[in-house]
Amino acid sequence: MQIVKGKAGWIEVICGPMFSGKSEELIRRIRRAEIARQRVQIFKHAIDARYDAASIVSHSRQSLPSIAVDAPRAILEQVDDRTELVAVDEAQFFSDELVAVCDRLANLGKRVVVAGLDLDYRGRPFGPVPTLMCRAEYVTKQLAICMVCGDPAAFTQRLTQSRDQIQVGATGMYEARCRHHFEVPDARDAGGT
Ligand code: ADP
Repeated sequence: MQIVKGKAGWIEVICGPMFSGKSEELIRRIRRAEIARQRVQIFKHAIDARYDAASIVSHSRQSLPSIAVDAPRAILEQVDDRTELVAVDEAQFFSDELVAVCDRLANLGKRVVVAGLDLDYRGRPFGPVPTLMCRAEYVTKQLAICMVCGDPAAFTQRLTQSRDQIQVGATGMYEARCRHHFEVPDARDAGGT
């Protein structure tokens, strides 16, 4: 990202399927901000206890301590006036209110970096992430590796039978797939959506 001098804040979105390195990229940006001695606060949704309830953790086991919250409003309430970078991981689990909260923080002059899935297990837009992509100044869409053929993968294949939009899990429950090998669960019942 460019170095911006002045008081304007902005929003960065890091999106893509599971295993595409969103958390790694978020952690990389946070570490660079910390090297620049910026004040950073890191949030994640309380639902994501994948490896650690109090940290953001990548599949490659990098981690940073974070604050677990269950609603976007709680982020706003806990951000310190002096914080320069607000990071949010697993944004897809939050309500649409996350968009207004990120806008508010950027308008206050903060750099807001949000990572999350853009598509759910059926390939549909997921939670507030697509709208955040529209509102963001910077969008990075990452790709994983298709576990069937090795091509770049933009989709997350659920390997279990659950039909809930949210089913928290990682390796064994989900894998990355390219568009050729991504299979929409219950495609025949989906009514074309
Ligand atoms: P995300 O936050 O997008 O789920 P992470 O940052 O947690 O991704 O993890 C990315 C890491 O996952 C990669 O660096 C790699 O070590 C590992 N990985 C496991 N499966 C895959 C895959 N199919 N494609 C790419 N990376 C994978």
